[in-house]
Amino acid sequence: MGKPKFAFYWCASCGGCEEAIIDLGEDLLKVTAAVDIVLWPVALDFKRKDVEAFEDGEIDVSFINGAVRTEEQEEMVNLLRQKSQLVFAFGSCAHIGGIPGLANLWNKESIFERVYKTVPTVNNPDNVYPKTTTDINGNELTLPEFYDTVRTLDQVIDVDYYIPGCAPPPDLIMNAFTAILEGKLPAKGSVLAPEKSLCDTCPRAKSKPEKLAIKEIRRVHQVAPDPEKCFLEQGIICLGPVTRSGCGERCINANMPCRGCFGPTREVADQGAKMLSVIAACFGIENEDKISDEEVKAIVNQVDDPVGVFYMYSLAASVLRRRQMEQIKE
Ligand code: SF4
Ligand code: SF4
Repeated sequence: MGKPKFAFYWCASCGGCEEAIIDLGEDLLKVTAAVDIVLWPVALDFKRKDVEAFEDGEIDVSFINGAVRTEEQEEMVNLLRQKSQLVFAFGSCAHIGGIPGLANLWNKESIFERVYKTVPTVNNPDNVYPKTTTDINGNELTLPEFYDTVRTLDQVIDVDYYIPGCAPPPDLIMNAFTAILEGKLPAKGSVLAPEKSLCDTCPRAKSKPEKLAIKEIRRVHQVAPDPEKCFLEQGIICLGPVTRSGCGERCINANMPCRGCFGPTREVADQGAKMLSVIAACFGIENEDKISDEEVKAIVNQVDDPVGVFYMYSLAASVLRRRQMEQIKE
């Protein structure tokens, strides 16, 4: 029997998840000794036809990072699903939509208008926009369709496991590889990171009072945050209470609040909505489950970019999922 076959693929992402694999350092040599990498577009010259040539299920594990935004990405993740025994959503964008998911505040038309027309540095007098087919001297060139909506990987294909984080830290990646190679994976659907919230592991948790009382929401650049004190106590929104731990408190240790890249803990259905209710409680609103529309509005009005703050990573996976476009045209 040959070595297990691993595939790596990227969709709508920044490339940080690819860097995270490289960040394994010497451990990467152990991985490549133990498995055959059969697809890794960023590093190795395999083609789509190489994937198509595999029998269904012949690839042991595909690690897919990035959200799904284009027709090509949709086709590739469907192909990898068909050819793989296990599919891992790798990193925040595949897991919960990530930063690309914030584009769900717009649609294809408004994004193209901005990127190819109204950005001050763009000079496009002939209104040339990308098209799926273009005739060049009798030859047809094609581009994949750009969809209106960014989707998480599990909104497109069945996903077996999730490795969270922007980007996932090396120890969680190695734990996942080891669990695969030793046949010790948990139940299907598991997020391969601790169940505790970030507040439970945060070094500033001791300074977090039982009952937080915020008078004013402040942005991190408006103050010099006290590096010993809980951000929420300082009036700075930190998504630690609703975010899964396992990142090593990377942002907190850099004196930045958590933006929620690890996604919600198991008990939290909607990361942004739950954080809003946490903030409501900090404002002294006793029954956070019965927060009124006026109370929500009063809090949200203090935040310059509420979607960007409460749903920075999770908009595509949230109950909101995307903005209704009629509202943009108003
Ligand atoms: S809210 Fe943020 S700073 Fe405060 S304890 Fe939780 S993770 Fe730490
Ligand atoms: S502190 Fe929050 S945003 Fe920063 S890496 Fe950890 S989970 Fe992600």
